Amino acid sequence: METIYLDNAATTQVRSEVLEAMLPYFSEEYGNPSSIYDLGQNASDAVAAARKLIAGALNASDKEIYFTSGGTESDNWAIKGVAWANAAKGKHIITSAIEHHAVLHSCQALEREGFEVTYLPVDSNGLVSPEQFEQAIRPDTVLATIMFANNEIGTLQPIAPLAKIARSRGVIFHTDAVQAFGHEAIDVQELGIDLLSASGHKLYGPKGVGFLYVRKGVKMHSLIDGGQQERGKRASTENVPGIVGLAAATRLALEERETEHARQAALRDHAIRRILSEVPYTRLNGDAQQRLANNVNISFKFVEGEGIILQMAMRGVCVSSGSACTSGALDPSHVLLAIGLPHEIAHGSMRMTLGRTTTAEQVDYAVDAVVKTIEKLRSMSPLYEDFLKGR
Ligand code: PLP
Repeated sequence: METIYLDNAATTQVRSEVLEAMLPYFSEEYGNPSSIYDLGQNASDAVAAARKLIAGALNASDKEIYFTSGGTESDNWAIKGVAWANAAKGKHIITSAIEHHAVLHSCQALEREGFEVTYLPVDSNGLVSPEQFEQAIRPDTVLATIMFANNEIGTLQPIAPLAKIARSRGVIFHTDAVQAFGHEAIDVQELGIDLLSASGHKLYGPKGVGFLYVRKGVKMHSLIDGGQQERGKRASTENVPGIVGLAAATRLALEERETEHARQAALRDHAIRRILSEVPYTRLNGDAQQRLANNVNISFKFVEGEGIILQMAMRGVCVSSGSACTSGALDPSHVLLAIGLPHEIAHGSMRMTLGRTTTAEQVDYAVDAVVKTIEKLRSMSPLYEDFLKGR
């Protein structure tokens, strides 16, 4: 049975072109970029070229790009680094209730150090309101961190108006763009973003590498102390193959972004339409329009998400019931609760995230599998039986 991978928000397959670009930096070009002989300088040149390419993708300067070990480190560094460096000015931070745990847990860590955090609610589609955001700003607010795109329900936040409000009030604005970078158009100048996190493995690059964009002039402390790498701000010998891979993945993502975006959005809408019309008692989670091109997230009444995943896996389709980090936990996802779903509905949710190799045939096969899965699970559900009797 062919495996149909529809969990591209969890991670993506490294592209062959990316792997090819990385390989020499494991073998022939294994030098340390800090070494001044040729072998070291070749590695240093590769890191510099990667930095330039990624800066260009965001309309930033290469001096504003810092390589990290991934999205989690970038989020931790942005939030803690800015909070610590600006604590004399104020100790209040604004975020949203639906952020990734890399952001939420960084904020909670700061609360234990005496910072105050406002967790903005979202509407039923997962959108943060710019008006509520503005009202939450206080004289001691130093940082706002609002994600570009949600990893579970795909909702895209109104980043431009939020960042504009933050700037007009002297608040530093960070966005976790781990799910958006390489998929959505992002111009940090146009959007007014001060810091941005991204990760290689969400755009067909390697795991364990990412970057943080930091606008020139933003005051921040380091998280990783040691040598002088990354202009003295982020120590540790550079992950040269990873950085080269991240840049190769970025270059390919830029080249293909518009066509892939349109292609996947059409497949996404086809899948959503089919599921909502063929399976009764269902609900689309996340905004129908302001949404990542590859994200389908649907709640099914009277069933459990775990049952859906296992049944879909038996039919050869990889999907998830929330973010990779929350699946396996018994509590329903904080994102689904924040958009107002009752516990029992949130529990019966499924996320399918399409990718660059997903075909129309695969989507139709997966939707057929969803229809059969829900029918089967409901036929075994006492809740559904009671519901049918009571009707
Ligand atoms: N932020 C978001 C929105 C994510 O989806 C993820 C990964 O799932 C992360 C941060 C963490 O990124 P990484 O796995 O590179 O640490």
